[in-house]
Amino acid sequence: MTASRTATSWFVSDLVKVTTDMWLKGWDERNGGNISFRLLDRDVEPYLAEWREPRVLPLSDPLPELAGQYFLVTGSGKYFRNIQLNPEANLGVIRVLPDGNAIEVCWGYSDGGVPTSELSAHLKSHCARRRVAPGDRGAIVHCHATNLIALSYVLDFNTANVTRALWEGSTECLVVFPEGVGTVEWMVPGTASIGDATAEQMKRHPLVLWKFHGVFGSGQTLDEAFGLIDTAEKSAEILVRLIAMGGARHTISTQNLADLAKRFNVTPLASAMTLEGWQMAAVSAPTVRSVQRRA
Ligand code: 13P
Ligand code: ZN
Repeated sequence: MTASRTATSWFVSDLVKVTTDMWLKGWDERNGGNISFRLLDRDVEPYLAEWREPRVLPLSDPLPELAGQYFLVTGSGKYFRNIQLNPEANLGVIRVLPDGNAIEVCWGYSDGGVPTSELSAHLKSHCARRRVAPGDRGAIVHCHATNLIALSYVLDFNTANVTRALWEGSTECLVVFPEGVGTVEWMVPGTASIGDATAEQMKRHPLVLWKFHGVFGSGQTLDEAFGLIDTAEKSAEILVRLIAMGGARHTISTQNLADLAKRFNVTPLASAMTLEGWQMAAVSAPTVRSVQRRA
């Protein structure tokens, strides 16, 4: 079967590039991770003629705000490592119907698949980010970045503390994400509730960490969302290493952070600036008991 013209479009090529990079980074085991990218009418216009007989699928919550909008979205259960081999089976273009209650699959998911199970978190996050960072397109990227997940097991898990730790883990972090990292407590994935919790954090932060699960990054472009996660994950890797080495002996100070903010003209998250460094979580009782049993 010959590939459709859509499969060779710039937006499918960009998604293939980012999902392949993410697979190689080790952030997307099996079907881990999902991506959505908002498309403009002029992006899809050259391909409309080959999009026939759309399938209609219901949305868990109505999203009239997105009525008529197109999104390129990874398929549920699809492996990032396979997207480059067959974009048409692993990706799809969806359009939110005029009443906001359903979507239609315009292209892709050619083996009968459906969009990611995290569609609620994606679409609601697009709404949230568009309000704070208006732009025409927009990308939401979810993945299982190893070191960020590892940190969620040991850091005192709140936005100010996680943000402060990541800012101290690498000098560029405060400049790349001055608004900090939102935090979502462990929840069952693939639900409208985790979608609501994520979008709530996305109102204030471009990056959201899901405890014991993964991270959501946003940006105007796929490159921007990928770069944001890459920067945070690099800092997380440094923090994991220094915790394994017995902890930092010295660190980036509050004054250093203030100097960075001034030089790069950004307003850093106040709650993270007022902290004196970052903290590990207190060891919970069940963890202590299982450690004692093993000793
Ligand atoms: P999907 O395969 O449905 O995208 O789910 C993967 C995932 O990472 C869930 O959080
Ligand atoms: Zn996930």
